[in-house]
Amino acid sequence: MNADLERLIDLQRLDSAAQDGHRRLAEVPDREKALDARLATARDAVAAAKARLAESQNERREHEKTVALHQGRLSKFREQAMSVKTNLEYHAIQKEIAFAQAEMKTAEDAVLVQMIEGDDLTAAVKRAEAELAAEQKKVDADRKAMAAEGAELKTTLERLAAERAGVVASLTPQALATFELVAKRRNGVAIAEARDGVCTICHVRMRPQVFNNVRRNDAIIQCDSCQRILYFVPALAAPAAADSASAPAQ
Ligand SMILES: [Zn+2]
Repeated sequence: MNADLERLIDLQRLDSAAQDGHRRLAEVPDREKALDARLATARDAVAAAKARLAESQNERREHEKTVALHQGRLSKFREQAMSVKTNLEYHAIQKEIAFAQAEMKTAEDAVLVQMIEGDDLTAAVKRAEAELAAEQKKVDADRKAMAAEGAELKTTLERLAAERAGVVASLTPQALATFELVAKRRNGVAIAEARDGVCTICHVRMRPQVFNNVRRNDAIIQCDSCQRILYFVPALAAPAAADSASAPAQ
């Protein structure tokens, strides 16, 4: 194979790997934001559960106040009932007592309902807190993994840059200039495999004579359509022996 062509294939491999690495690093801020959002959602769920519990407790206190109010009125009426002079007064006070008792019963029932609801809401707060703790654990682990991945990526990028400098130094300036120009115009991909007479990146069929020349891999030949530098991978010998060995006996 042409020495420049072989090095350019290496160069493309290094550049594509570096591009992937940079892309992955560039995703870090968005991934951090996604982790923050997960925690915020879990925290919001805890806050909402606590708010519902507090609201229920407030309602319960209101009903308890109503119970106390009617209790107070009842003892006052009972005292008054002892000192009534007439039947009319007696019936009037009995009516007040019955009314206060009914109101108190309603408020007591409401307190009971709030107590049962309070148990459910307390359990819901505990559940939300447990989910937050679990989410915090997962997010911490994800952050740790992301930091490790970031450090590894940086090391890889440094290694790729060093390797690239070596490859660049060994290239003829003309081959490097062609590569850089095409890479710049073609989103960093300056090399394309030619297969079955077609450029595998732009999918344009090349003239048979051009493909024949590309197959020899002994010169820098660019795709007429996308200008990428073409190379050819010879087909490997078919592993026919393995197939016949595994064929069922006749
Ligand atoms: Zn092409």
